[in-house]
Amino acid sequence: MVKMLLEQGFEVTVLDNLSTGHAEAVGEAELVACDLLDGAELERVFARRRFDAVMHFCALSLVGESVRQPLDYYRNNVGGTLSLLETMRRHSVERLVFSSTAAIFGEPDQALIDETHPARPINPYGRSKWMVEQMLTDSATAFGLRSVSLRYFNAAGASPSGEIGESHDPETHLIPNVLKSVQAGGASLKVFGNDYPTPDGTCVRDYIHVDDLAAAHLAALTWMESQEGAAVFNLGNGRGFSVLEVIEAAGRVTGQPIAYEVQDRRPGDPAVLVAASDRAQRELGWQPRYRDIEAIIETAWRWHRNARY
Ligand code: UDP
Repeated sequence: MVKMLLEQGFEVTVLDNLSTGHAEAVGEAELVACDLLDGAELERVFARRRFDAVMHFCALSLVGESVRQPLDYYRNNVGGTLSLLETMRRHSVERLVFSSTAAIFGEPDQALIDETHPARPINPYGRSKWMVEQMLTDSATAFGLRSVSLRYFNAAGASPSGEIGESHDPETHLIPNVLKSVQAGGASLKVFGNDYPTPDGTCVRDYIHVDDLAAAHLAALTWMESQEGAAVFNLGNGRGFSVLEVIEAAGRVTGQPIAYEVQDRRPGDPAVLVAASDRAQRELGWQPRYRDIEAIIETAWRWHRNARY
């Protein structure tokens, strides 16, 4: 996102507590190491600069971890956002793009999830993000905060330049784990459950490229210039791939067969999550450019072979 904003000529300040982020990924933008829960430091940053808008990405975001450590999720994701919103309000910053998630839907009623689908999160991560969406709706009503909540389905892939990609320790996400297992000579890839009610028994997800997500944020920023209120958009490709299909696609991209071991289900995982993104396409004029799972994995593979951090 920062790379895209800089390319578009925006001035960008990044706040990151660097608990999972990497200073190297920020490039030429200003970086302030700051935690949103540190109200005094946040106040200093907002007093020093006049911001037109905030894009709020920071959160704890692991479903399994959220089940084990729910209070960390509520403190960081809900408390951190509260602190940010209070500071924005004090400084009359009136536009926010918020990273929400498909995890607010829980077990969906139908195959394709649009924005009218009820929010019924089944894990603390999803509940923390849903609470923030409600804070944004109430803030729009009470004092006119403009916001767009973008509900990502499965963010995937890396910058096609190969310069920026995901690097987590420990890594928990499927595509990086598959690629790391190829790099490690086929070691220890785990498939969490093959008894879900899906065609091959493994979970189905809608993988959406990070550059497509970033493009939607840019479109949301422009959209808010003429729109009031708290809007929500689902962002995905509209096609689901099972865990086994992702592993097969990665095998084609890397040219290597990939061995795996089936384990128990991971707590908190719904069987199927696939987006209907028609509203974003219609209102934001947004279209995902990476429609193909192999093209997404290809960018991730380029990054993993030459990871800089
Ligand atoms: N998954 C898996 N093995 C892994 C990592 C993930 O089988 O090493 C499964 C996980 O249970 C889920 C899907 O892959 O069904 C996508 O998981 P990921 O953690 O990438 O994203 P999430 O859906 O949690 O946002």
